[in-house]
Amino acid sequence: MSGMQPVRGTRDLIGDAFRRHHHVIETARHVTGLYGLEEWATPIFEATSVFARTLGDTSDVVTKEMYTFEDRGGDSVTLRPENTAGIVRALVSNGLAQQALPRKVFYAGPMFRYERPQKGRYRQFHQIGAEILGAAEPLADAEVIACGWQILQQLGIDDGVVLELNTLGDTPSRDAYRAALVEYFTAHRDQLSEDSQKRLEKNPLRILDSKDAGDKALVAEAPTIHQHLTPQAAEFHTAVKRHLDRFGVPYRDNPRIVRGLDYYSHTAFEFVTDRLGAQGTVMAGGRYDGLVQEMGGPATPCVGWAAGVDRLAELLEETPDPVRPVAVVPVSEAEEGPAVELLQMLRAAGVPAEIAYKGNLKKRMERANRVGSQAAIIIGESEVAEGVVVVRNLSDGTQERVGMPGLLPALAAAGVVDAMLEQMVEEMELAAEGDEFDEDESDEE
Ligand code: ATP
Ligand code: MG
Repeated sequence: MSGMQPVRGTRDLIGDAFRRHHHVIETARHVTGLYGLEEWATPIFEATSVFARTLGDTSDVVTKEMYTFEDRGGDSVTLRPENTAGIVRALVSNGLAQQALPRKVFYAGPMFRYERPQKGRYRQFHQIGAEILGAAEPLADAEVIACGWQILQQLGIDDGVVLELNTLGDTPSRDAYRAALVEYFTAHRDQLSEDSQKRLEKNPLRILDSKDAGDKALVAEAPTIHQHLTPQAAEFHTAVKRHLDRFGVPYRDNPRIVRGLDYYSHTAFEFVTDRLGAQGTVMAGGRYDGLVQEMGGPATPCVGWAAGVDRLAELLEETPDPVRPVAVVPVSEAEEGPAVELLQMLRAAGVPAEIAYKGNLKKRMERANRVGSQAAIIIGESEVAEGVVVVRNLSDGTQERVGMPGLLPALAAAGVVDAMLEQMVEEMELAAEGDEFDEDESDEE
C-alpha cells in the first residue's frame, strides 16, 4: 500500500461497517427516548483540567491515554477520552444544576484514547451513554441499567451479554474497605505489578481493575467490600436489586467490579460478553455522587453508563440492509429533463431514487445493478412522446410500460415499495415497544 493512511488506531466507517455502527446509535437514541432521556452534544475537546480533575491523576486514562496538546493560544486542551466529564461540565457551566433535577441525558460520539490498538480497542472509538443527573434514589440506578439492557435486547445481542453488579458502598464503607485492601495487598506487595504498587499508595481500589495476570491472581483472593458495608449502604444495594427484578433485568454479583475514583459510590456495573475475546466489556457504569461538586457545582448525585459502539456493532448478528435506490435511466441526453422530473417526484413520495450522470443505456443499467437497485425506470424518446415509462424489475428481468398511475404499483411488483413498507412496519414496531408491561408484579414486599 502507498499514499496516505489513516492514523494508527483510527478507521473509516464505510458500507457495512457504517450501517452497523449507525444502527447501534439509532437504536440507543430510540430506546433512551422511551425512557425520557434528552440528547446532549458537548464539544469533542475540553480544557485539560476538565478531565485531569474528574478522572483523577492516577487513572490510566489520565496518566497514559489522553490526547493533550497546547493550542495556538497556549491553552492546554484534550480530546475527550469519555463524555461524562463533558456532560457534568455542561451541567455546571450552563447553570443547569440549579434548575429542576433530575436531568436525564443521552449522548453519542467519538472518544479518543492513546492505547495500544487491537480488535475492539481503537484510538478513536465511539461511545453512547446515559446519565441521570441529580437523583439519589436506587430506582434511578436500576432504571438507567434497565435502559441499557433494553438497548442490548433491541439490538438482539442480550443473550450473549451478562450484567455484572457490585456496590462500592458509601464513604464510611469504602474507607473501611480501602484499609482492608491496603493491609491485604501490603502483605503481598512484592507480588504486585509495578503499576499496582503505585496504586497501592494512591488508589488501592484500582488494583481490583488491573489487567496484569499476577495482580489478577492476588485480586481473586482479596477481601470484598461486603463485610464492610454500612447498613445504609447494604440497604441501598438491596433496593437497586429489588428494582432490577421489577424491570426484569437479570444480573450476576461480581465483587471485583470497581470504578476506582473517589467520587464513585454505591452501584458499579459492567455488561460483559465472552464473544469479543479480551475486549469483553461492552457497557460500564455506576453512581458518581461526588463528581458535580468536584467540578464546582452544588452537591448533585448522579448515575450513568457508557457503552462502546464499536464493540456493540461487532456483536450484531446481521448487517442492516443498505438503501436500494430506484435507478432512473434516460436513454439519451434528450430525456434527462423528464428523468430529473421523475427523480424529484419519486423522492417527494419517499422513494429513494438515483441517476447515473453519463453513459449509454448498457452502462447505466450496469450501474443500477451495482448499486443494488431493485428496479430501473427507463425513459426513451417514444416513452416521452406517449407519457409513459418502462419499469424493469432487476431481479427477474421482466418489464412493463406504464403510465404515471401505474408507476407505484409497478415498483411495488418489483419489490421497491414492499421494502419501504417493511421499513415503516419496523419503525412502528420500535415505537410500540414501550407499550408492553408485565402485570403480575406487586410493588409491596
Ligand atoms: P477497558 O477495560 O476495556 O479498557 P475502560 O474501563 O477503559 O475499558 P470505560 O472507560 O468504562 O472503559 O468505557 C466504557 C466502554 O467504552 C468500555 O466498556 C468499552 O466498551 C468502550 N471502550 C473503552 N475504551 C475503548 C477503546 N479504546 N476502543 C473501543 N472501545 C472502548
Ligand atoms: Mg481502558
